Amino acid sequence: MAIVQRAQPRIRQTTTAHLTQTMSLLELSRAELNEWLNSSLASNPALEVVEPDICPGCRRPLLRPGPCPVCHPAKEEPIVFLSAPPTRRPAAEDLDNRPEPAQPETLGDHLMSQIGPELTEAERPIAQYLIARLDDNGLMPEPPAESARFLHVLPSAVEKVLRAIQRCDPPGVGALSTVEALLIQIDSLSESGPLPAGVREIVAGHLEELARGEYAAIAKALRLHRSAVEAAAHFIKVNLTPYPGRTFFRTGPSRAVSDPDLYREAEMTFRVQPNNSSGPLVVEVYAPLAGRVRVNPEFRRMVRTLEGEERTKWNEKVEEALLIDKCLRQSQNTLMRLASALAEEQRAFILGTDRDLRPLTRAELARRLEVHESTVSRAVANKRAALPNGRIVPIARFFDRSLSVRDMVREIVAYESKALSDTEIVSLLAKQGVHIARRTVAKYRAMEGILPMSLRRAQRAHMRT
Ligand SMILES: [Zn+2]
Repeated sequence: MAIVQRAQPRIRQTTTAHLTQTMSLLELSRAELNEWLNSSLASNPALEVVEPDICPGCRRPLLRPGPCPVCHPAKEEPIVFLSAPPTRRPAAEDLDNRPEPAQPETLGDHLMSQIGPELTEAERPIAQYLIARLDDNGLMPEPPAESARFLHVLPSAVEKVLRAIQRCDPPGVGALSTVEALLIQIDSLSESGPLPAGVREIVAGHLEELARGEYAAIAKALRLHRSAVEAAAHFIKVNLTPYPGRTFFRTGPSRAVSDPDLYREAEMTFRVQPNNSSGPLVVEVYAPLAGRVRVNPEFRRMVRTLEGEERTKWNEKVEEALLIDKCLRQSQNTLMRLASALAEEQRAFILGTDRDLRPLTRAELARRLEVHESTVSRAVANKRAALPNGRIVPIARFFDRSLSVRDMVREIVAYESKALSDTEIVSLLAKQGVHIARRTVAKYRAMEGILPMSLRRAQRAHMRT
């Protein structure tokens, strides 16, 4: 992540130079990839889409040459294959237990489920308004005073609700600026251990120098050793994002309203084998198009017969098409390898509940796949997976270490004989080997929709009468 300039793949004006980075393709959602590919097809006659072969066994279109990966699975490994994008109605001959399209969580739903239980009747419309105002990055572009004017409420009421939103997951959501978003993330991370020296100071006052790579200037200003600044810069790059809304969700609520289909699209579907539920999982990774993309062989032959300027001109198109084909394959291969690793590492979570999520970091997965950590981050970005129970979750969820702890908090509260305080929950968790701050318990409790102790106590008293 670059703090100020972030490599944003430009979909419409992609040039060959952009394409040399398979990376930028990896970062696109299926819908974006589809758009980009269609515009490449429209502008390059050397590129074409052909009808895929059909597997004689299961009637699946085969988007890659070779035997059907479902009918002829290679080894005792997850069966991962590239598949045509799902249509609205599943084909009649599709006998698989493909899950019904579920309503995936939007960022708005996710936030409301966290703060909803704590809101009063009067605060609810304020929360709804503020959440709807969040931009695509999950930041709040409007100062509280302005929202207050619009809603005809006191600015303090808006500030209170905004603070509640800012305590939500993903960390940094609802911040009024990039710097604030980063500082909230730093607070959240510092709960799990000490951070490298200078991280907070660099974010608070030296972001521009950081973006320009002026480590020496930062070192001087903060009286730190240059190597310390480099370590802090690395930490910031790897752990913080100025776009908190994007880590979990492709877009903010604004785009969801204009394009609700966006949320219906998973990039991959995890399933169990119909006749072998204990066997390896099946993962369908959706390709951007229903057909097979390739370089048109006749066009290539034709170009070879040309001469001079004409030949140069069309040869460029052939080169570009070859590069597109290659980059597309590479990024799909990476995505399929990621899918396979996730199917193995998080099988229990895929088939079970959030509780079954095992701690897994992007770095760990990167080592396993022998790729750079940033490759995993890109492959995870903007993507969703459909699970056998019909849930559609962001793939980032596979790396959410808080989920199992949240489940433990839920269980503690479910079995409490009297309403426990957050501090008491902290010590119960500590006995189970989980050491988190009281503030984190409060946050997880809110995320699970569990009322604070005082309200739970009042609720019980009410139920007894
Ligand atoms: Zn087949």
